Formats: sequence, C-alpha cells, structure tokens
Amino acid sequence: RCIKRFTTASVAEELITPPVQISYTQNLINGQFVDAASGKTFPTYDPRTGEVIAHVAEGDAEDINRAVAAARKAFDEGPWPRMTAYERSLILLRFADLVEKHTEELAALETWNNGKPYEQSAKSELPLLARLFRYYAGWADKIHGLTVPADGNYHVQTLHEPIGVAGQIIPWNFPLIMFAWKVGPALACGNTIVLKTAEQTPLTALFAGKLFHEAGLPAGVLNVVSGFGPTAGAALASHMDVDKLAFTGSTDTGKIVLELAARSNLKPVTLELGGKSPFIVCEDADVDQAVELAHFALFFNQGQCCCAGSRTFVHEQIYDEFIEKAKARAMRRIVGDPFKKGVEQGPQIDTEQFEKVLRYIKSGVQSNATLLCGGDRLGSKGHFIQPTVFANVQDDMLIAKDEIFGPVQSILKFKDTEEAVQRANTTRYGLAAGVFTKSLDTANMITRALRVGTVWVNCFDVFDAAIPFGGYKMSGIGREKGIYSLKNYLQVKAIVTPLKKPAWL
Ligand code: NAD
Repeated sequence: RCIKRFTTASVAEELITPPVQISYTQNLINGQFVDAASGKTFPTYDPRTGEVIAHVAEGDAEDINRAVAAARKAFDEGPWPRMTAYERSLILLRFADLVEKHTEELAALETWNNGKPYEQSAKSELPLLARLFRYYAGWADKIHGLTVPADGNYHVQTLHEPIGVAGQIIPWNFPLIMFAWKVGPALACGNTIVLKTAEQTPLTALFAGKLFHEAGLPAGVLNVVSGFGPTAGAALASHMDVDKLAFTGSTDTGKIVLELAARSNLKPVTLELGGKSPFIVCEDADVDQAVELAHFALFFNQGQCCCAGSRTFVHEQIYDEFIEKAKARAMRRIVGDPFKKGVEQGPQIDTEQFEKVLRYIKSGVQSNATLLCGGDRLGSKGHFIQPTVFANVQDDMLIAKDEIFGPVQSILKFKDTEEAVQRANTTRYGLAAGVFTKSLDTANMITRALRVGTVWVNCFDVFDAAIPFGGYKMSGIGREKGIYSLKNYLQVKAIVTPLKKPAWL
C-alpha cells in the first residue's frame, strides 16, 4: 500500500540564502574564459523547477584540442612542473582559503544547479573541498623516490615525476567534491589538467577554476571544458596528447572511455564507477541507531551516491521491528526546496534520472516487493520523488541488482552472517559496504570477507581526504584520495649509475 504522507518543505523555514549570480559560463582555457569554438551553448537547469538558469559554452572536440594544447604547453614549457613543490603547495593552500571565503556563493551555486540541500553543500561539502586541497598541499613537497639496493655495482634511485597532461571526466552528483578528488592530487604532483564537467552541472567547476587563477595558478595548468560525453568527453579520452585519464561515472561509460584510451595512446586510466552497496544490520544491533544509519546510507544526496547503501540486509530476529521503523523514518524525511532550512532531500538531478528511478519503483511493485511507503513523485513540478521503502526484497529482483541512484531503499532479510556476506558479495559491483554490529569479532569477519573497496563499520559515508576510495570488480580501477591517489599522477623513473670504486671493496 502506498501511503502519501510525507513531510514537505511547507513546514520548513524560509529561504536561507538568495540565489547566487552566475558569473562564469564560458570554457576556461589557458587562463581565459572563452566561447566554444563552434559558438554553441547549451542550457543548464534548476532541478527544483526544470527552468533554465544559464546557457553554457558547449565544448566539443575542437575545444578539447585547444585545452589540451594549453595544458601541454604549460607542462612542457611553463613554470608549474618546474617551480618548487613548496611554491605549488602554497597555491593549493591559497585556493583552499578562497574556497572558504566564497563558501556561500559556491554552495548556493552547487545547490541551484544540482538540487542538493544547501546546508549539505555549505556545511559538509565545501569544508571537505578545502580540507582536500590542504591535504594535498601537504603532500606536494613530500613526494620522493627511493634509493634501491641493486647488485652492488650500481647506485639506483627512483624519481617520482609528474605524468604530464591529465584528462579528467567527472559526474554531476558531487560536482565540487569530484573536482577536488581529481584536481587536488594531480596538481600536487605537478601535472597540468583538462577537466570535463558533467553536462548537468557545469557551473561550480568554472567558478573554482577562476578561484585557482586568483590563487596564483599559472595559465594553462587547469583547463575546464563544459560539454557532452560522446563529443567533449570522448575527445578527451581518445586524445593522443593526454598522458593519463581519470573518470568517474557509470560502469557502461567507464568501459567506453577505457576502450578509447586503449585505442588511442594507451594512456593509463583510473575509473570510479557504479555500486550496489550492502548495508548489513546484525542481530545484536541497536535497531533505532541501525535504522537511522541505514536511512542515511541510502537517502543521502537524494540517493544519488555511487556508494549508496542500496541493499539493506537485516537479520531476521530484528527484521519486523526494523522495517516498521525504517518506514516511519522515511515518512518523516523532509523533502522540498533544497534552499530551505531543515530540508533533507531535494529534487533528483534531471528528467532522465527522475524517470529512471520511477521505472525502478514500478519494477519493484511488479516483482512483488512490499512497498512500505513512497512510490511516486512528490508535487507536480521539478524532479522530487517520495522517499520510498521496499521490504521483502529478493536478491534476483531488479531493484536488488541494479543501481537505482535514487531515494529507494530495498530491505532484504537474512538468517546468519555467513549467508549475508555471501549474498552481499553476489553482485558485479564492489564499491562499498556498511556493517552494523556491537561485536568486534563479527565486524572483523564481515569486513574481511566483503569484496569491496570501503567498509564502514557502525558509520557510513565518511569521506575524509586521507581515506582512499575506489572499487573492486566492476566498480572501478584504482583508488582516489589519500596517499593512494598520488601514484595515479606520477611516473617512476629509475636512474642507474655504475659505482666505479665501491666504498666497500
Ligand atoms: P555517465 O557515465 O553518463 O557520465 C559521467 C561523465 O561521463 C559525464 O561527464 C559525461 O558527460 C561523461 N560521458 C558520458 N558519455 C561519455 C563518453 N562516451 N565518452 C566520454 N565521456 C562520457 O554517468 P551519469 O549517469 O551521468 O552518472 C551517474 C553514474 O555515475 C552512476 O552510475 C554512479 O554510480 C556513477 N558515479 C560513480 C562514482 C564513484 O566514485 N564511483 C561517483 C559518482 C557517480
């Protein structure tokens, strides 16, 4: 039965921020904002209403060529890879300061273009952005190679050098955070960059690019091109003068860009792709706490997280209590205008995603999962969806197998931990997982048995800059953040020198 009784934004307080001015809509190439070579633009929207908020330069292959040429020149001839690492770190630190200074504008722009709650943008994502650039500023002058013990007649050392021009393609669900995960380590290592934003959310990366130049970044080091995947994205992935490609998005597109990279110049590729993450609630769990965390794990960011805890496995002993409370929690979720105080959930990003999520909900109903609440759109304008909870979900249902990328929680029952782990691992994905238990032994067993890149124990979505993130299986290749991301942007050079008169002879 579908109960339509959600808390809506009408109970929320007044607007907490005015709409921000949109100042940057052209491509950022060689330190200048320029129109697309074709002169074309494309509209970008407000997901609250579906209204156009700006027309943005539409980059395609020619703009990517120009941006790559600028990045190549900045790398081959410019000051960036040649200045001291300390000077580079100071520029990253100045950028982080500017992010803090412009937090309200950046957060408002992010919310306006993406639909995520303003409080989330301003209080959690912008601080993470500044933190990440400060973290990598700290690494910039601590990147060094090794002295390698060779066979006695040679002195061998390794140099860790920047890889060159990095091509980076990012998605729309966390536009600024994805910008940071890509740009931070690449710049710390001394590379130059061409970044292509998602066509749904081009605005904040252009603003951030402007701030980087204000912080003293030399022209051509960071180029930002707006445009579509099959045109601008494909041109970047297949460019012969791009030395490394980093991609975040869907698994299907990941396969395409990997192939484009291989067919062109065999550039190394890191991929952050989709997921179908389990959240395992054990028998000993405090049910109220587990319900709250499982709710957050799935519904955070409108359910548009690659690592969303989208399969809630609950032990049979606490299952009935859990599903009642999960339903009650979802029905208390405050959905509405993301600029209003207290709103937990805004609209989905666009019509395509909105319709896709509603199709999955329909498929859940058709496959006889029990719809506890939600199941429909909310209101008649924009892309709002009711927080939806299904119980009695079976492993072979589409809603338990596919990435829905929306506010749809699927609850599955299990009998013992071994069974839960085995079922949790039965997926082509392996991005993340959550475990909720009071037992250290149970946590230790489950965390080791899960084939995923991150396991959160009694917490979820903890994204500090120092923690590596990435997937097993079809969730990706490589790791971002932390020390692990540095090696994505470095080449290792071995230097071998004969020892003519070894000291020990
Ligand atoms: P998408 O793969 O369609 O788009 C992602 C990016 O790739 C965009 O910039 C897009 O323009 C570009 N792109 C699309 N087609 C391309 C092509 N042929 N060549 C080159 N570039 C191309 O993904 P989406 O549907 O917009 O985003 C949602 C997906 O992203 C979800 O599946 C989600 O799991 C995944 N995602 C993963 C992570 C992660 O960290 N693993 C983070 C965010 C999103």
